Amino acid sequence: TEIRDLLLSRIRDVADYPQPGVMFKDITPLLADPAAFTALTDALAGIAGQSGATKVIGLEARGFILGAPVAVRAGLGFVPVRKAGKLPGATLSQAYELEYGSAEIEVHAEDLGGEDRVLIVDDVLATGGTAEASIQLVRRAGAEVAGLAVLMELGFLGGRARLEPALAGAPLEAL
Ligand code: 5GP
Repeated sequence: TEIRDLLLSRIRDVADYPQPGVMFKDITPLLADPAAFTALTDALAGIAGQSGATKVIGLEARGFILGAPVAVRAGLGFVPVRKAGKLPGATLSQAYELEYGSAEIEVHAEDLGGEDRVLIVDDVLATGGTAEASIQLVRRAGAEVAGLAVLMELGFLGGRARLEPALAGAPLEAL
């Protein structure tokens, strides 16, 4: 489709970043193009509206750049999910495995409650580890997962299949 071609044309492949053998998808050309950034924001805001979400979660750090304007456009609150140690208040935290080692993400407990339906937004779905941990955080906060929306899914890494149990029927939309 037209929007898919526009978005794809503004994503730059960077070889051997951040490690040899990895082809990194760089979204900064898309962010720098107002037509593409606006089209992306509008598309994600449409998904947020359809999902019946009450809040948008953005995953640090590129999920902040995409999620915040989506929340504003959709008329919803924005909740940051941050790497461990960055949020000043009482947090819920969730550890998850990386290829080498582990990581931990956190959310302010008071920002999500039993009345919330949450759309999780990020730029790239790779192995699905980050998204899976964020889904667990949302559930542990007592909120419901309205869906996961990403700009790009790296299908060959199998994130979608990995997330199926955690999503439990909630939609995964990749533009
Ligand atoms: P996963 O946990 O799914 O393996 O990795 C997804 C996370 O790593 C996302 O937060 C995403 O921002 C980042 N990521 C992994 N690969 C890429 C990539 O090629 N390009 C960009 N922009 N982000 C990536």
